[in-house]
Amino acid sequence: MPNIKNNIDHVSKRIEQSAQQCGRDPGEILLLAVSKTRGADEIRSAMQAGLTEFAENYLQEALDKIVQLRGENLHWHFIGPLQSNKTRSVAEHFDWVHSVDRLKIAQRLNDQRPEHLGRLHICLQVNIDNEPSKSGLSVDEVLPVALEVAKLPQLQLRGLMAIPQAGKTFDEQQQAFRQLAQLRDQINRSLLAENLPQMDSLSMGMSDDLEAAVLQGSTIVRVGTDIFGQREKRRA
Ligand SMILES: *Cc1c(COP(=O)(O)O)cnc(C)c1O
Repeated sequence: MPNIKNNIDHVSKRIEQSAQQCGRDPGEILLLAVSKTRGADEIRSAMQAGLTEFAENYLQEALDKIVQLRGENLHWHFIGPLQSNKTRSVAEHFDWVHSVDRLKIAQRLNDQRPEHLGRLHICLQVNIDNEPSKSGLSVDEVLPVALEVAKLPQLQLRGLMAIPQAGKTFDEQQQAFRQLAQLRDQINRSLLAENLPQMDSLSMGMSDDLEAAVLQGSTIVRVGTDIFGQREKRRA
């Protein structure tokens, strides 16, 4: 097993340095550990290094780990593609969903969220580079969906999430993240005008581009590989 604690220290340092570089408080940036394909033992190692927020892409795999780690004080984030038939389970077991890309999915999550769990935190996923193969709302679609999601009583619209195209230069990474930050600000003005709560989060930055994301205002970086090591190909 790679040295997870050392890896986390190193990632935290990268976040800190980028924050300092642009005069941000590193404390306002959440390091979200992406634990897909990883076992409960690896999650425990990350917990021992101080992490409490974990993200999963695949529902069944996630539920297995949530059960194994029940009783620990952890928060679970769903970041994978979400189909209608999976929303109930996600609404019942997660604290955050970063990958909402249709109003219908948000409405189902709202209807299915058990009241005693409080509001489910939501980010809308934006297909920032208009890639045909990638899920997410197109830039033009985000505003009308945000205005509706903000009104759903069991959800709290927290922000926007994006996964920019791979293989970009550092400048291009920053440009994509800047675009997402500007979109958030623009939508916030409309939310304010409607007397709806504004979005305070930007879920952007992964192992290969977290510096660019922090420089452009990320509040949640989602890091898998640089914490847990290279992933094996997923078993079907
Ligand atoms: C897998 C995944 C990550 C983590 O990517 P790494 O490059 O391993 O850090 C982040 N966000 C999403 C949506 C993912 O699916």
